[in-house]
Amino acid sequence: MTPMKTVKDYIRTIVDFPHEGILFRDVTTLFADPRGFRIAIDQMLHPYAGQPIDKVVGLEARGFILGGAIAHQLSVGFVPIRKKGKLPGAVISEHYQLEYGEAVVEIHDDAIQPGERVLLVDDLLATGGTAAAGIRLIERLGGEITGCAFIVDLPDLGGHKRLLDMGMEVHTLCA
Ligand code: IMP
Repeated sequence: MTPMKTVKDYIRTIVDFPHEGILFRDVTTLFADPRGFRIAIDQMLHPYAGQPIDKVVGLEARGFILGGAIAHQLSVGFVPIRKKGKLPGAVISEHYQLEYGEAVVEIHDDAIQPGERVLLVDDLLATGGTAAAGIRLIERLGGEITGCAFIVDLPDLGGHKRLLDMGMEVHTLCA
């Protein structure tokens, strides 16, 4: 019998994307596989079984695919955090540093009620800049973050430690 594939087996690495020297972890091959997508969602949910969660927040764009499936599984609502200028209603914003320059993410200012317990999800944790900005947005609205879940962890880039230092519970599926 062939051994069962792990989440990591479904992820491919694209060399020199989007810039020369970058090894891009492409999770679309994981999403496209029926077993791969299912085990990824199941494993992201596993640490939170039995825990009360009121909302799932996903980071643009692959966090929407994961967050939608996880929210449906938990029977809770889904909230997007988007790049600047994409959300139609009133928003609050957070700036964060990129390697070259700055980025801005936004959330609708009525998307989370004070005291709601939130699970934050995205596909990959690198420097943690995107997730940290998302955490600040959720906390500014009064949300209480139960945990942060990612498929891929690149711990050498410091994001995992950064989120732990912010007091977060962090779960990742592979490095
Ligand atoms: P960070 O803010 O440096 O932690 O970068 C994480 C964000 O960039 C996430 O929203 C990821 O989707 C995206 N990202 C960075 N590198 C990769 C990659 O190799 N594959 C897929 N997404 C990536």
